[in-house]
Amino acid sequence: MLIQNYINGAFVAPVRGMYIDNFEPATGEVYSQIPDSDEEDVALAVEAAETAFAEWSVCGAETRSLWLEKLAEGIRKHFDMFAEAESKDNGKPISLAQRVDIPRAISNFEFYAKAITQFSSNAHYMENKAINYTLRQPLGIVGCISPWNLPLYLFSWKIAPALAAGNTVIAKPSEITPMTAYLLSKVCDEISFPKGVLNIVHGLGTNAGQAIVAHPKVKAISFTGGTSTGEKIASIAAPVFKKLSLELGGKNPNIIFADCDYEKMLQTTVQSSFANQGQICLCGSRIFVERPIYEKFKKDFVERVKQLIPADPNKKETKIGAVVSASHMEKVLSYVELAKEEGGVVLVGGYRYNPEGRCANGWFIAPTVIEGLSAFCRTNQEEIFGPVVTIMPFDTEEEVLSYANSTKYGLAAILWTNHLARSQRMAQHLHCGIIWVNCWLIRDLRTPFGGVKSSGVGREGGFDALEFFTEPKNVCIYYGE
Ligand code: NDP
Repeated sequence: MLIQNYINGAFVAPVRGMYIDNFEPATGEVYSQIPDSDEEDVALAVEAAETAFAEWSVCGAETRSLWLEKLAEGIRKHFDMFAEAESKDNGKPISLAQRVDIPRAISNFEFYAKAITQFSSNAHYMENKAINYTLRQPLGIVGCISPWNLPLYLFSWKIAPALAAGNTVIAKPSEITPMTAYLLSKVCDEISFPKGVLNIVHGLGTNAGQAIVAHPKVKAISFTGGTSTGEKIASIAAPVFKKLSLELGGKNPNIIFADCDYEKMLQTTVQSSFANQGQICLCGSRIFVERPIYEKFKKDFVERVKQLIPADPNKKETKIGAVVSASHMEKVLSYVELAKEEGGVVLVGGYRYNPEGRCANGWFIAPTVIEGLSAFCRTNQEEIFGPVVTIMPFDTEEEVLSYANSTKYGLAAILWTNHLARSQRMAQHLHCGIIWVNCWLIRDLRTPFGGVKSSGVGREGGFDALEFFTEPKNVCIYYGE
């Protein structure tokens, strides 16, 4: 299958005619090709987006809202095809794509279809003198660049608010997982989405992605991905004063106090460690357990993790699929070796797994639990982003806070305790943007989403995203003597 760019409402081949192989992680085999686009393709997309902006920016929130609903409906109509494509392209279990990825992509469009009709701005009244009101206008052409771990989920999470706010978009999915973005362009075609409003350019980050970031007519970049890529993007965009929203890496602590609801904690911790093969920026990869329950937790947790056997993502009963690429598998496994060098003991997993049958050459890793490491070693400081967690005991709140806050990251934290005052204290002192207490990954799309420190700049979600994708302009009207 040959994927094409979607520019100005048409499917077009890359200008240079070059393509890149796209692999199925579960088999390690090439199954499609995607355009290896560069700045010439981006220039065409910018031209189309510039023309389309004239109408899209003024057609009114209600009209844009209706179009977003149509996009949601278009995905819903082809739900099974989207879920199968996401599972095949990424290696994630089909059940996860059906339960999380595709429903959430639909919700993203539905949410912003509604949110834009409720978005308002401020007025500031000055007695006997003037009234100020703030106009919120779309920025123009914006760039949306997303990663491979939750492909359509994160792609739509950026595109939906950008479009709702009246911008025209140039979007690039990860080159490793392009398929559902391509299917979204098919939906645009099917519903006759206004041409040039959403343009999808496929290709390498360093080529097509960078061309989007560098283009002078692209006014803002919304990026989700690795911290070093975020640095690179900021170094190009910041000197020309583009607006930037950066959602970057994480190394989230999962802090378990002895007074927690043990069974619920155990069940959720298996999820928060290994869902999507640990490739969710919100997974808790450093598990700190209060000493009185450490040994019990270790035994029970390892017992449960042993039951997580990677298997063909296409089977409905599969809970653990393949990791996304051969190079990512090598990277994750190299961290297991590093952990051993640093004195860690692998309690379960730690190796490449080869299922039988069609997936024998796929990129699978047995879910891995490691103990015996310092909270400050490289394994516990650097992002691994795979099915590998460490467990460590602690004695006091102060001690665990110093461990939790010790990395350069600050995206999310998970906290297990039934002690109300302690949960408040901890929530105040944890350095991160999102905290889940006695739960994980409950998402209300109205809430601010993002990290601190090297986990990013800015917030997505709710009206925060609509504020990011609009420019406030204050109008002051004098009415005094
Ligand atoms: P990358 O940073 O490698 O890539 C993300 C996107 O940026 C891809 O589309 C990539 O293209 C593109 N890209 C790469 N280089 C450039 C460049 N120089 N200019 C413009 N675009 C570029 O991240 P991954 O795809 O590997 O995703 C995993 C990372 O994402 C992890 O660090 C994870 O923590 C983070 N993440 C953060 C989330 C958050 O909300 N904070 C949520 C999910 C993931 P290509 O793939 O084609 O190279």
